[in-house]
Amino acid sequence: MQLKSIEIIGFKSFAEKTKISFPNGMTGIVGPNGSGKSNIAEAIRWVLGEQSAKNLRGSRMPDVIFSGSADRRALNMAAVTLLLDNSDHYLDSPFTEIKVARKLFRNGDSAYFINEKQCRLKDVTNLFMDTGIGQGTLSIISQGNVEEIFNSKPVDRRSIIENVAGVYKYKRQKTTAQTE
Ligand code: ATP
Ligand code: MG
Repeated sequence: MQLKSIEIIGFKSFAEKTKISFPNGMTGIVGPNGSGKSNIAEAIRWVLGEQSAKNLRGSRMPDVIFSGSADRRALNMAAVTLLLDNSDHYLDSPFTEIKVARKLFRNGDSAYFINEKQCRLKDVTNLFMDTGIGQGTLSIISQGNVEEIFNSKPVDRRSIIENVAGVYKYKRQKTTAQTE
């Protein structure tokens, strides 16, 4: 499984439709302060289902929508699409290419899509569950994350390790079974 590209429209500083491709190997994104590097990482987090505006350096979710600049009006919608190569079927899906998208309008309407079909957040979460990516992924380490892990309480650190080790899913299923 490999991230092939990301398309961003109206998310944070990306007013124009922007497509970034990630060819084989390592990709570095460089640019001056404030040019939008962290916004790209946040766009990935967001499309994977991030629910906390705070984790995206905002106070409310609509803060992710382009809010205008000196020469451009604010936009009413943010949309991010990830294109994943799934030819190794690492994600539990028969598709060899998977498109995951999320849209949010200023009035609060929002939607998720898998391969252009509207779906629930839960479907996106399930697609990535126990793959090491997905909501709250540790494969995206933001500024400040490292200190946060070092300084966390043992019980919180344990849950991070359980998540990485892939036992989290079973613990969740156990809790669900016990409450049913
Ligand atoms: P650094 O090198 O300092 O880490 P960076 O390249 O990571 O910088 P970002 O933090 O990604 O930069 O981008 C910050 C820019 O995004 C700021 O100029 C900010 O005004 C802009 N920005 C954030 N949210 C929005 C929004 N909703 N609408 C328009 N611009 C936004
Ligand atoms: Mg940054």
